[in-house]
Order: sequence, then structure tokens, then C-alpha cells
Amino acid sequence: MVRPEEMIVWSQTRLKATACPFRGQAIIDRVGPGMGSPVAELGTVIHAFAKEYIAECRELERTTNTSSVDRLIEKAIAAHPLRPILRADASDLAWKFAEGLIVPATTDGHVEWTLEADLNWTANKPPRWRGTLDSAFLDGAVWHLDDWKSGWRLASESECEADIQLPFYASLVLAHYPNTLAFKCQYHFLRYGEVRELTLSAEEIKEVWRPHFKSLADNHEALSTYPAQPGSHCDWCEVVPSCPIEKRDIAPITDEREAAAAAELWRVLKRHVSILDRSLRAWCDSHGSVQVGDQAVGFWPAPSKSFEDAKAVFDMLVTGGIPEESVWRQLGISQSSVKTLLPKGEWGALRQKALGLLEERTSPKFMAKRRTQDAIETPDTEELALP
Ligand code: SF4
Repeated sequence: MVRPEEMIVWSQTRLKATACPFRGQAIIDRVGPGMGSPVAELGTVIHAFAKEYIAECRELERTTNTSSVDRLIEKAIAAHPLRPILRADASDLAWKFAEGLIVPATTDGHVEWTLEADLNWTANKPPRWRGTLDSAFLDGAVWHLDDWKSGWRLASESECEADIQLPFYASLVLAHYPNTLAFKCQYHFLRYGEVRELTLSAEEIKEVWRPHFKSLADNHEALSTYPAQPGSHCDWCEVVPSCPIEKRDIAPITDEREAAAAAELWRVLKRHVSILDRSLRAWCDSHGSVQVGDQAVGFWPAPSKSFEDAKAVFDMLVTGGIPEESVWRQLGISQSSVKTLLPKGEWGALRQKALGLLEERTSPKFMAKRRTQDAIETPDTEELALP
């Protein structure tokens, strides 16, 4: 019999992490929150901003209040150790958030709302399920649940339909508001201004989703070993440093002998990766993508954006007050672009003249470089013996 204090409280993050048993267990075992990756920290900052922004809108009885965006995002980021890395991105996302949001005028509205439920999904202790919703508000007998995504990944409609996150939160809300008829769930991909929406009935929550959550949790708790299972979830895994697969054959370097062995391995791996890359690309080019676990490696459309009219951008930035030399540096012309623009032959003279304007700069680059003959000392064979 599991004592209440030993019962695992499952959040949607933990449930998702069960796709890799090692990760699932590492999350359960972890003591205290640590600093996440910049992507995760950015999410934390945006959520802190959103909470204050909505609270202020409600206080002022306004549906939007963009005049507060700069002040509130600065407040949210002020004490953050990763402030210099996060500031520009955080500000951009905060604006996208505020410009895309109409704060509903409701008395039953919550931001960063933590809810718990017991084993049977009733609002009792001890908790078996726990979650913190980004935003929820009640409209008649329908709860609107919103989740804001600050990452670069834009999930498809079908991925969002299969995602457990908002159905999990809906299950919690239903535990506290059993008379709810339905849930209107929205995932907001802030970077792209895209919203994925699904509607769930209370019946669907009870009959489909709750049994699913229970089976994920029960299956994990019944495991006696927790093997690492790589997949697309590795992309946002928070326990990478302790992952047995990620660190296989790679131990921290503690002395010169290990450093030499690591340098040798690094050199070989680099070469192998480039050969592997070429042959895999050639294979995928003629045979299509290759399935690995829940991922498919191959050629996929990768949208990109570029400025057609560089001069218009330059003029706009300089007119806007950015010093010319800073703009030049960012929009700089590269050696290879000059070579492409001015092929040898007809344009040879101009090409030479343009390349004569190149300025040489030296900055440290991590690479392998042939040593000069003088620098190569006669090695002591014993010293070179690698472990
Ligand atoms: S990196 Fe991947 S395989 Fe390793 S623990 Fe994380 S999810 Fe599992």
C-alpha cells in the first residue's frame, strides 16, 4: 500500500516524459527546480509577463493595454540571470502576446492557475494529479483554456489534437467544476501568430482522456527499470546531462592524456559525421525519408524569409537612427558573395579590385590545425599511450 506522502503526483510534463522511462523517472526523482535551458527560461519569463499583463488589464477593466508591454516585460526579465540573452526575444514575444490577446471581461478568470485532484479526479487530497494552467476563464458552462507557446516549434493540427496538455488541464478543471459541459482549448504559438483549437466535451474527458492519463502513470509506476528511449522528445529533454545515451562514451576530461584521447576521437567523429551526412543525404534524395523511432530524417520544406531589397532595409534602419557602420556590419557583403557576383573573366578586374578591399580579422576558432615541424617534439611513447 502506497502511503500518501509516497504517492507520485503526476503533471502533464511528467506524463509526457514517460515516452522515455529514464527521463520520466529522472523528472520524478529530481529535487528542486534548477535553471532550465534558455528556451525554457524564456517561457518562464513570458508566463510571468502574461500574468502581470492580464492582471493589470483586469484591474483597469480593459481588454488590451499595449502601453504596459515594455514596462512589464522589463519587470519580468529584470532579475533574470540570462537577461542579456533573453531580452530581445522576450520583448518580441511579449508584444506578439499582447497584440493577439483580448482579455475577456469575466469574473471567473484565472492566470497561472494551479489545480490538484485525487486518484478519482475529485478535488480532494492527497493529490494524484496536478497542473498549472496558463489561463482559464468561464463562459456559461464552457471553460476556455489557453496555453501560450514561446518555442520555435509550430505543432500541426493533428499533433495538437493528440497532445495531452490541455486535455489534462481540462480534467483538472472538471474535477473542480463538475457541471462544466465542454472545454474550448487553444494552443497559441506566439512566434507564428498561429492558434490551434480543439473542443472537448466533459464526456470525452471522463471516458477517453482520464483513462489514458491513468494508464500512462500506472504503466510507469509499474516499471522496475527505466531505460532511456530516444525520440523527438529528446529535443526538449531537461535531463540530457544525465542521459545514459547522450553521454555514452563521453566522460568529462580530467587530464591531458584524456584530452588527447578526446581530441583524437573528436577528429575522427567529425570526419565520420561529414561522410555519414553525405551518404545519408544521397540515400534520402533517391529513396525518401528514413524512420528512426518517432522521427523521420530526410529532406523537409524549411520556410525561410529574406529581404529582397537590401537598400530599402539599409535606408530604413539608418533613417530610424541606427549608426551606418552598425548597419553595414549586419548587412555586410561576404567574400563569397562578391566572388559569386563577379565571376573571373569578364569581371576579373573588378573582382580583384573588390577583393582588395577585404579586411582580415583573426578570431579564435575551435578546429584541428596542422602543427609546424618545429613544434612537433619527439613524443615519449609512454606518454602517448591512450587509455
Ligand atoms: S535525451 Fe532522450 S533518451 Fe536521453 S533521457 Fe532525454 S528523452 Fe531520454
